[in-house]
Amino acid sequence: MKICPSCEEASVSLPRAIFANYVLPARCPRCGALSVPAVRWWALLLSVAIFVPLFAALELIERSWLHFSAGLSAAFAFLAIYALAVPLRRIERADVVATRWLLAVLFGLLAASRVAIHFGGGGA
Ligand SMILES: [Zn+2]
Repeated sequence: MKICPSCEEASVSLPRAIFANYVLPARCPRCGALSVPAVRWWALLLSVAIFVPLFAALELIERSWLHFSAGLSAAFAFLAIYALAVPLRRIERADVVATRWLLAVLFGLLAASRVAIHFGGGGA
């Protein structure tokens, strides 16, 4: 169990804590506070910087998607271990709502651009 940053009880289960993020944060069953692992930006950067080039190189040599997915898995495993090691940080409901809106807008733009390419592009 991880310590809830609000009521300071060991109330948040480990899987919830590991997978908690700004879209689906961990909710404390005792006080209802929302939290995410206090992951530093350099940990994200490190996992990408170490694992992705390594396995991308293997992928080029071996021509196998297995290595690329293994690289992604290793990067996620690193982040999961890191998330276990760091304490939870309390976030507000407004942060979650803002992140969900941002993602919805990004995906909306992405989908719109795909549709535009499909119907508008392609020449002729
Ligand atoms: Zn709590």
